[in-house]
Amino acid sequence: MEYDVIIIGAGVAGLTSALKLSHAGRRVLLLEKQPLPGGYATVFKRKGFTFESAIHCVDALGEGGEIRKFLEEAGLDKKLDFIPLKNFARVIYPGHNFLVTPRHEDFIAYLSQSFPEEAGNIKKLFLDIDKFYAQFDKFCNVKFPLWLKLVLVPFLYPAIIMASRLTTKQFIARFITGDRLQALITDIWRFAGLPPEDLGAFYFLLIFRGYYYNPTAYIRGGFIRLFEAMVEEIKNSGSEVRFNTTVKKIVTDRGSIKSVVTEKGEEFKARAIISNANAIDTFTSLIDDEALKEIYRKKLLGLEKSISAVQVYLGLDVPARSLGMNEYMFSINTTYEHDESMRFSLAGDYERCSIEIVDHSQLDPGLVPPGKGGLVIMSLDSYTNWQGLSEEEYQKKKQEMADKLILRAQKYLPGLTKHIEVRETATPRTMQAFTGSPEGAIYGFAQTVAQSSINRLGQKTAIKGLFLAGAWTRPGHGVHGCFISGMDAANLALKF
Ligand SMILES: Cc1cc2nc3c(=O)[nH]c(=O)nc-3n(C[C@H](O)[C@H](O)[C@H](O)COP(=O)(O)OP(=O)(O)OC[C@H]3O[C@@H](n4cnc5c(N)ncnc54)[C@H](O)[C@@H]3O)c2cc1C
Repeated sequence: MEYDVIIIGAGVAGLTSALKLSHAGRRVLLLEKQPLPGGYATVFKRKGFTFESAIHCVDALGEGGEIRKFLEEAGLDKKLDFIPLKNFARVIYPGHNFLVTPRHEDFIAYLSQSFPEEAGNIKKLFLDIDKFYAQFDKFCNVKFPLWLKLVLVPFLYPAIIMASRLTTKQFIARFITGDRLQALITDIWRFAGLPPEDLGAFYFLLIFRGYYYNPTAYIRGGFIRLFEAMVEEIKNSGSEVRFNTTVKKIVTDRGSIKSVVTEKGEEFKARAIISNANAIDTFTSLIDDEALKEIYRKKLLGLEKSISAVQVYLGLDVPARSLGMNEYMFSINTTYEHDESMRFSLAGDYERCSIEIVDHSQLDPGLVPPGKGGLVIMSLDSYTNWQGLSEEEYQKKKQEMADKLILRAQKYLPGLTKHIEVRETATPRTMQAFTGSPEGAIYGFAQTVAQSSINRLGQKTAIKGLFLAGAWTRPGHGVHGCFISGMDAANLALKF
């Protein structure tokens, strides 16, 4: 059987490509090694509690959001129950405490009130940010071919060029010099996994817009409902989805793709292949062309990978709200120096690293048994902290890390430890084992200036008919970023 397109991996980008191509009338085969869709963005269950394995919040899912519009066009919105998120998070610093609402005006007001002497500069910064968004939207909406758009960028969209060349710190420092004010404005750096000193301003601005400018939503039953609905629609459109199917090889013939071979030895032919497996595995393990493998090995292994993370999942015998969890998410910082915070994470210093506490069950009590609650505590972490441990050492370290993070959370949620019924832990090793992401990188290649925006690995590859989709490619990680990447890969496959 020959397919139009084979897609390797049912992560966000793979599913998006599959749906877009199926709706365009192409016959797609989607192969996923796990028993369920979503990749990182999946769920798991323990003793009646349903936990989001990774995702805290997805931007662009609110009314008018890019993903929401796509779902509406695909007719999937009717199958999903969106729960609007009033506020995204309460952000806590030693001397500051603010709510992230979907109105950036609220943030400007808080910052101007806290730093009245900087009110004018804050206004100027946000006007400049708005200029970037206006040019970015024009760039995305204009119907020219990509090559022409790129040629025109320096003339028509200078704000995009500026954001692509500067780090987040440099971008902000053009208007704001105070360290603490800079720290509050760039608080969302953790969602990009790099401190402002290293994080490219381009992707920072995209993430910032997602949570400070636009409303978003949770999906009743968990984000998995979205991915299940996508799978159903892909099948209803005449395509095939196979779980528990690992692709072992991408077969090429004189620089063009030919087929894929699975672990069980089945071979499937296609005219195009989209790999949602990470770019490193795709090129250093899956493709069969040894010469190209070597070229890509040199190129990709020289790139910086993003950081990993630890997560502690707690099932509680009471709703977390009753312990003081009065917002969907708490984001807790012990320092205003984000690069120091990053060093705490890299060193596995669980007493001082920044943490996020998320209460999905506050929005959707159906995730937990009646009258109970669930929490996820997350911190960025390095794979190297978890490497080379014996099984016994690994289990001990997991226990100690979780104990420390739970005690940190208990400072804000008094009595927390007395209410824990279920406790589960994920480490960088779990992240790697689950999706195959090298060193458990949670955001693909790091979003440094050199690896962001137009410099980021594109969807097109040196092999004819092979395209990439997912966090490792343009524009980058996150459900929204991967959704865009999946759409772009599908468009390239369609043209091909
Ligand atoms: C702890 C954590 C918290 C996060 N929080 C957020 C958040 O709050 N908001 C947000 O938007 N993003 C968040 N992210 C990031 C987001 O989850 C990812 O960027 C996104 O889900 C990655 O999607 P992807 O399309 O790149 O595919 P992946 O999730 O990487 O999935 C790839 C899929 O391909 C499959 N696969 C790989 N190799 C093969 C093979 N050989 N054969 C068959 N199948 C294969 C894998 O099993 C997997 O299902 C978080 C990530 C983590 C880890």
